[in-house]
Amino acid sequence: MRRPLPSVEQFVKGIRASDRVLLGQAITLVESAREDHQVLAREIIAHLLADTPAINTLRIAVTGAPGVGKSTFVEALGMYLVEQGKHPAVLAIDPSSAVSGGSILGDKTRMERLSASEHAFIRPSPAGDSLGGVARKTREAILLVEAAGFDTVIIETVGVGQSEIAAQRMTDLFLLLLLPGAGDELQGIKRGIVEMADLLVVNKADGDRIKLANQARGHYLNATHLLPVKPSGWQPRVMVCSALENSGITDLWDAISAFQNDLLANGFFAENRRQQARYWLEDSIEAGLKTMFYNHPAVKEKLAEVEAAVLAGQMSPTDAAARLLGVVNWGS
Ligand code: GDP
Repeated sequence: MRRPLPSVEQFVKGIRASDRVLLGQAITLVESAREDHQVLAREIIAHLLADTPAINTLRIAVTGAPGVGKSTFVEALGMYLVEQGKHPAVLAIDPSSAVSGGSILGDKTRMERLSASEHAFIRPSPAGDSLGGVARKTREAILLVEAAGFDTVIIETVGVGQSEIAAQRMTDLFLLLLLPGAGDELQGIKRGIVEMADLLVVNKADGDRIKLANQARGHYLNATHLLPVKPSGWQPRVMVCSALENSGITDLWDAISAFQNDLLANGFFAENRRQQARYWLEDSIEAGLKTMFYNHPAVKEKLAEVEAAVLAGQMSPTDAAARLLGVVNWGS
């Protein structure tokens, strides 16, 4: 027989006391498709949010093309933070598992040293059939790890599409990892991603690649100077590091701290979090409406018939949608 789940009180007490087992279980509830799990997860988060001073945390998005060194870098940064007495948590947004059946971020043995640290917490990307679903789960997981006392949350994502935008919408700082030498197209970086970055970091600046790394730094410095000033007022910085040899990490953390201090001082940090909260509210309402609609008995009954009429050219898609939306009595 399965053991019953802990109560809301047990979860809340355990998470506040940094109990990793309960934290992990609570994230599993967030990720679950079961309605009763969702209800429980929401109750836990509601209790925890009541007195979590989340503004004392820093949320960092780390992205870059596959192979740029994200895992190696996140581990190096995470271990540095542990040495500084901080408590990093690493979460991920990787919708590739839904598309290809194999996940880009999850397949390798990753971050062995950081996983072994009692001061860090690592969780692979939730699975899901849509990027929106995966992202919403990761966003809820942030609240849980912060309530458990993890002060620096790193959201790792793959540099191949929309997942960066989702990661940016739940973090304070957007860090783009780059390779020495190659231009944007060769790096597989989508347009617009460079513009989103607060910190651009050329990784693998070691061995005979140091010169190339510095050249790439010069290229990206020029590129970022041409961009319009960010709403935060922050001028993006371009740095080099070697995640493998652990060089450049201290300077990088200094830049991250400067970013945090500047934005806390000018009010953008808090304002950005408020805007993000509004975004996720709207996003969750939209997702909820969609689920309610498709689960409605009248819609379930009529959908196939109306769809067939549209496919046969007997009904316009607009008319069909209006009819289906009309059968739902939203007030009931
Ligand atoms: P990811 O796919 O972006 O997560 O990249 P990984 O962290 O798995 O790294 C891909 C490959 O690059 C691995 O073979 C790493 O050992 C290597 N790598 C990562 N960082 C560095 C670095 O700073 N210098 C060098 N020379 N290799 C690195």
